[in-house]
Amino acid sequence: MDKSKRKIIIAGNWKMNNTRPEAEKLINNLIPLVKDANCEVVVCVPYTNLETAIKLTTNTNIKVGAQNCHWSDKGAFTGEISAKMLKELGVEYVIVGHSERRQYFGDTSVTVNNRAKAAIDQGLKVILCVGESLSERENGITENVVSIQLKIGLFGLSESEMKNVVIAYEPVWAIGTGKTATSEQAQEICLLIRNTLKSLYNQDIAEKITIQYGGSMNADNVDELLSKIDIDGGLIGGASLKAEDFSRIINATK
Ligand code: PEP
Repeated sequence: MDKSKRKIIIAGNWKMNNTRPEAEKLINNLIPLVKDANCEVVVCVPYTNLETAIKLTTNTNIKVGAQNCHWSDKGAFTGEISAKMLKELGVEYVIVGHSERRQYFGDTSVTVNNRAKAAIDQGLKVILCVGESLSERENGITENVVSIQLKIGLFGLSESEMKNVVIAYEPVWAIGTGKTATSEQAQEICLLIRNTLKSLYNQDIAEKITIQYGGSMNADNVDELLSKIDIDGGLIGGASLKAEDFSRIINATK
């Protein structure tokens, strides 16, 4: 497989962090630090910061993403935000199926699939997260878990729609814990994902899709992780909250 066919994407997931002034400061600090990046740079911010982030990043190389979306355009879904609303704001990316959504807010692969389809229908780019828990890994079912999450999460998406899909492999035990998967563990599952995509779609889609690793990625381990043939970027939580740290990860892709 030829890694040069793929876009390297480094996306920050701010989670539920940053008030508006904090968001302004972080983005304003980040802009000059990453202006020469040769990868796609994305910041996935809380809903309340989307408008601010979009305004500040206009005419920069930073794209803005949301962290979730609902599958209906509108309706009686208190507390939810639709993909259509995100699109209207000027959002480009949306994360779906983050393990924290699955763990704390009842998201299942079926609802993740509904969210992904709605986002794609609206012309958003989707970062679909998959990954096993510690007990799933210890019980030797990582491959089954990840491939089922992938098959259900992508159900009904056509070959052409896959151009707007990025997969993030995020082992749950590595998120926010400081425990990174070894580059070999991450590569093994990213390859499994690519092979699953080949069987679901075709070789071309499998070769061109961006597969990110996420889970305690930082400036010290990014080189090693990205040196692996099937790892095409990162979804970064904690280390995306400081402009300096995030930019060091982004600039490591040079
Ligand atoms: C994440 O939230 O997607 C993530 C990978 O977090 P962290 O980098 O903090 O482990």
